[in-house]
Amino acid sequence: MRVAELKPRILLGPGPSDTHSRVLEAMARPTIGYLDPQLLALLDDIQDMLRAVFCTQNELTLAVSGTGMAGMEACLANLLEPGDRMLVGVAGFFGQRLAQVAQRVGAEVFTVEVPWGQVVSAEQINEALKKHDRIKLVGIVNGETSTGAWQPIPEISAAAHAARALLLVDAVTTLGGAPVLVDEWGIDACYSGSQKCLSCPPGLAPVTFGPAARAAMARRKRPVQSFYLDMGLLARYWGQDRQYHHTIPVNMIYGLHEALVLALQEGLEARWARHRAQHQALKAGVEALGLSMLADPAHLLPSLNVVGAPEGVDEAVARRRLLEEYGIEIGGGLGAFKGKAWRIGLMGESARPEKVAALLSALRAILEG
Ligand code: PLP
Repeated sequence: MRVAELKPRILLGPGPSDTHSRVLEAMARPTIGYLDPQLLALLDDIQDMLRAVFCTQNELTLAVSGTGMAGMEACLANLLEPGDRMLVGVAGFFGQRLAQVAQRVGAEVFTVEVPWGQVVSAEQINEALKKHDRIKLVGIVNGETSTGAWQPIPEISAAAHAARALLLVDAVTTLGGAPVLVDEWGIDACYSGSQKCLSCPPGLAPVTFGPAARAAMARRKRPVQSFYLDMGLLARYWGQDRQYHHTIPVNMIYGLHEALVLALQEGLEARWARHRAQHQALKAGVEALGLSMLADPAHLLPSLNVVGAPEGVDEAVARRRLLEEYGIEIGGGLGAFKGKAWRIGLMGESARPEKVAALLSALRAILEG
């Protein structure tokens, strides 16, 4: 098979989302060098535009090469040293992942776990912070892609700061599709991915670090174990030194640049409202089919919807038919929801009324057939 023979899809899974044609056209421009002044100008723009989408003034805001996991690893590897203590709110698969990666960095990790579909409360975080002293970092996932639950951040932030801990937020499934107010909410470090609500292909991970996080990084006793993800070294390339660190994926930079231009041209408020509206349309549509979302109704994430599969229907067969007969991709359940749910992403260019309508009519045909 050749790439040119690939069939187009409507991407309504947990990511990647559909890419705007302007982003794809940008990525097809000729590759230039990683120190070309034109590329450096794009990097400066990306930092400014990322500050706008993260709603932050943080100087140290850039895109790490790699997917959302690179953003997660960059934050943990730079903020933690072996023996440091971290508290993670675990409400699903990606909370578990955050705890696992922190352990690999050598941290002593404590968790607050809630049933899948629920969010972690500030009281639970408070209690855990009372029980375990010397917690350096509290980590939480804003949009839990495995459950479709939307974790509120401000109260968790207050709890973390009252215990003199830093707050790390995973915004992989929310940045660009829902408010991620880094400064207003007091988030010390935050990471995301290019391929979800920013609607760029996978390959870059926006990250931002506030003053308290940078101060903690400056107090490190040993260098960051990962050379590739060392924020101090990356900041020297993205900042004024322009010192070689690694060969940045140039055409991905074009894509992210154009995706951010599109997001800001639309306007963040309008973009968040569009994601909410399509989520509501999907919710009404699946309810009309007799189905329901599995997350706590008070905390439904607009960008990722976990819908319970009907009794007696093999969810994997229905998903395969959607892909093969209708060209629509949705995801299957993870962990506790494996075999029981569909994960329907409405992110970036995928959060469009005609795509929601296409999915609902295909699902109806499959379920009624
Ligand atoms: N965090 C969350 C909430 C995610 O949904 C994902 C991916 O789906 C990740 C982290 C990891 O991102 P990636 O798969 O881009 O490495």
